[in-house]
Amino acid sequence: MRRLLPLLLSALMLLSLTACGQQGGSPSASQGIAGSTAASSSEPDPTPVPEPYVISDPKVMPEGGGKDGVPYVAWDGIVEHLFFHPVVAYPELAFDGDSQANGIDDWMVTVEEYNRILQSVYDNGYILVDINDVWSETTGEDGQPRMVRNTLYLPEGKKPLIISYDDVNYYDYMLKDGFTYKLILGEDGLLWSWGKDPQGNEVVSQDLDALTILDKFVREHPDFSPFGAKGSLSLTGYQGILGYRTNTDTKDWDEAKEAVRQQEREAVKPIIAELKRTGWTFGSHTWGHINLSNHSVESVKEDTQRWLDEVGSLVGPTTILYYPHGARPDGGDWQQTGPVFQYLQSQGFRVFASVGIESFSYIKKDICAVICDRLHPDGTTLRSASCLERYMKFYDAREVIDLSVRPQREVGWQ
Ligand SMILES: [Zn+2]
Repeated sequence: MRRLLPLLLSALMLLSLTACGQQGGSPSASQGIAGSTAASSSEPDPTPVPEPYVISDPKVMPEGGGKDGVPYVAWDGIVEHLFFHPVVAYPELAFDGDSQANGIDDWMVTVEEYNRILQSVYDNGYILVDINDVWSETTGEDGQPRMVRNTLYLPEGKKPLIISYDDVNYYDYMLKDGFTYKLILGEDGLLWSWGKDPQGNEVVSQDLDALTILDKFVREHPDFSPFGAKGSLSLTGYQGILGYRTNTDTKDWDEAKEAVRQQEREAVKPIIAELKRTGWTFGSHTWGHINLSNHSVESVKEDTQRWLDEVGSLVGPTTILYYPHGARPDGGDWQQTGPVFQYLQSQGFRVFASVGIESFSYIKKDICAVICDRLHPDGTTLRSASCLERYMKFYDAREVIDLSVRPQREVGWQ
């Protein structure tokens, strides 16, 4: 049954994209390159050529010690790391009192809150960097591979920030609960979200999804991303990726289902290509969102292989692993290197990210790997008195939280 919905969505999406080309007022058509000539000519529309997007290396000092008149300086300090879940596009659906409402209140922010957070971290002098540029693998004096922290060269006065996004899968349960349904490519070659408003109308937008909002913010504030970096997308595999049902199901599978899956795989490829072209990178969140602290090596092997087959085969190799539930492997002791950690490292993972109260990081001495923690802007931290001060360098939670749409639950700082 759960295959029906994506099928329907694919069909609807085709319809809506076609409609975009015919209606001048729709968002993608209004910025479309092909729109003006299509009506008077029988020739096919030219394929839109996207604006060139430049990605540069923060590990290299720009020639002359600066760029565009701005001096660059070496940064060896902390690299802050914030992570988000998908953002709530329609609070009236998310916070409607159903069984998911409190979970969404705990772990997510609304579009409005997310916009305020982006503006605030930008105003506080943070700039985006790619997590893949922060550490590198090298050979130690003993001839063994090990990780090192890179010096970054940043515009003077700016501070580096990684943003990661967990569960960018558009899970079935979220679709009716106030989130966007999937990412699509517009006629303008840019990424848009597709979904439905509370009345059931189809909506193509760049203002309702965490990814398209950040894309737009960087287009409007290019100095927020001087190296072209965006965010790192942490993907599971069990319901596909990016809104496309690219997953298998071992319990219920046949040729027809596999054919649909292959169509979904083809459909998501241009989305992945555009994300990569515009500074987004990918990490694993395990295939099944499994708790690594209490899984055996055997089950982690099976899960990892499935992630590589179904997700890695689409997004390419990655060295980043985002622990589901923030749970570290092998019982959760970060100072140990247990069998599950060793196995994951042997599969190419080098940066192992958990969740914590600060952007902690530690280069392991006994194995080529880095462990780190991320801060989590969400309902739990926005409501918490002890987090208020901790997040103040990024934003003032009292000015971010939108209590007018969230459930009536306790706020610690009142
Ligand atoms: Zn997760």
